[in-house]
Amino acid sequence: MLIDSHCHLVYEGLAERQDEVLASARAAGVKGFLNISTREREWGDVIAVAERESDVWATVGIHPHEADQHADLGRDILLEASQHERVIGLGESGLDYYYDKSDRQVQQDLFRMHIGVARETGLPLVIHTRDADQDTGDILEDEMGKGAFPALIHCFTASPEFGRRVLNMGLTISLSGIVTFKNAVELQEFAKEIPDDHLLVETDSPFLAPVPHRGKTGEPAFVRNTAEFVAELRGVSVEALGATTTANFFKLFNKANPA
Ligand SMILES: [Zn+2]
Ligand SMILES: [Zn+2]
Repeated sequence: MLIDSHCHLVYEGLAERQDEVLASARAAGVKGFLNISTREREWGDVIAVAERESDVWATVGIHPHEADQHADLGRDILLEASQHERVIGLGESGLDYYYDKSDRQVQQDLFRMHIGVARETGLPLVIHTRDADQDTGDILEDEMGKGAFPALIHCFTASPEFGRRVLNMGLTISLSGIVTFKNAVELQEFAKEIPDDHLLVETDSPFLAPVPHRGKTGEPAFVRNTAEFVAELRGVSVEALGATTTANFFKLFNKANPA
């Protein structure tokens, strides 16, 4: 049993064949899906999938790429959207200095706004961070100092130092198909040291299809390939890794009831 803790079912590549990709994932043992939002105008569609499918849940939030377009989004709007019964988390939000698609200050302001709502609601924040280890770590530390909040780093690709820093703050780390890539040696080493109770797996589909599907459109069924790879790295069975990461998912996202 596995959970895909990060997918974009309303994105092109998955939206057109949602029923088919969900069915094939279920057949591969995937028993839950967290459908992630990136901008306000897609929240309705993301939640609609979760209303239709009992094993799909939703998040609401603003991706750092979209920050400039949401500079005025007030916390009340996010707070209100988060009250929906199928919304179990916030995000994805954070900092992306690799693509730098939005002003960095606006990215930071929105990131802190999401953190505030996570603290207030107790809903976990799904954090996206790329080439921004220092600022992401500093903001998390500063905000944790004001009051704890639940969060995870999704599609973890940062340095082991950053990984240890966020683990020390109590965050969870989610591994995507990137860990299966041949050149991801440092990440593979770090994947062995993540504590059992702070580990999740995800696809970030339709992006980042893992080996042996590289180059294809990613889909939630492929979380199995990532899980098998991570299980082998950690010297456990894929069943054991599935059980651990599934338990972690429902412990962290405690507003979700297993379908
Ligand atoms: Zn992301
Ligand atoms: Zn994503």
